[in-house]
Amino acid sequence: MTVSIFDTVELHNGVKIPAFGLGVYKVEDGQQIEETIQTALDLGYRLIDTASFYQNEEGVGRAIRNSSIPREELFITTKVWNSEQGYENTLKAFDESMDRLGLDYLDLYLVHWPVKGKYLDTWRALEQLYREGRVKAIGVSNFKIHHLQDLLSHGKEKPVINQVELHPLLSQVELRNFCQEHDIKVEAWSPLSRGRFLDEPVLGKIAQHHAKTPAQVILKWHLQNQIIPIPKSVTPSRLKENAELFDFKLDQREMEEINGLNKDQRFGADPDHIDF
Ligand code: NAD
Repeated sequence: MTVSIFDTVELHNGVKIPAFGLGVYKVEDGQQIEETIQTALDLGYRLIDTASFYQNEEGVGRAIRNSSIPREELFITTKVWNSEQGYENTLKAFDESMDRLGLDYLDLYLVHWPVKGKYLDTWRALEQLYREGRVKAIGVSNFKIHHLQDLLSHGKEKPVINQVELHPLLSQVELRNFCQEHDIKVEAWSPLSRGRFLDEPVLGKIAQHHAKTPAQVILKWHLQNQIIPIPKSVTPSRLKENAELFDFKLDQREMEEINGLNKDQRFGADPDHIDF
């Protein structure tokens, strides 16, 4: 049970990741990202999820250096983009990301999407970076069960995390069960589905009962399912709202009501059909 914003979850290699974090897709590099991260760190966020694709790694690095929080208390994730995949390309992409971030080590490096014909070579590069100690943990994103099975049978290291689109309309139960069996933690991207169904009456009723907002109810549902949510916002009041999750608990009936909203509905790309 997650009881505070400072709680962590242990990955299968012993590294601890915060149970909750901040996503920064579409946060502009420069002043916007620096102010957003500063506000988030003041509120207790410690996990920052970026990617080379987001083009804001430099701002993430500056925000970290400007903060008084010791580096080891922060958990920084970035990802290798699709056009950067393959063994040599990934090693190069990692160096470029680290230069932009200005960090000595990374906490978590992810394969952003399972690019057909490339992701196994990309994974070998991540294994190399992990062995060299340049990254504390390696994982994947947008992997379906068959991609994970392929990686488990061909790779030397097992991914610590699979970061996937996950929210009450796409609850990914089968994938979550597979990951649990293999001790791979699940991280949720678009955990709020970008606010698309916050007016759903079931959420409204539960939110009202706890004097919380629908967004807080969804994020709590993630935490109680042992899923690590990384909601994005640049609005200080929402950053605060999204972090105020530790003074209430959803009961079994409420969890089931939210489970019942699932429609296997993706808003992002299907990992088997990516054209980018
Ligand atoms: P999200 O579900 O976090 O939604 C963010 C949007 O929801 C905000 O822009 C805002 O419009 C709204 N919102 C946030 N808090 C709110 C609140 N309290 N009340 C009302 N509305 C609120 O979606 P996301 O940004 O797509 O996902 C989060 C993070 O996941 C990203 O920033 C990124 O780090 C990561 N991500 C990863 C992948 C991947 O392929 N691995 C893909 C997309 C996103």
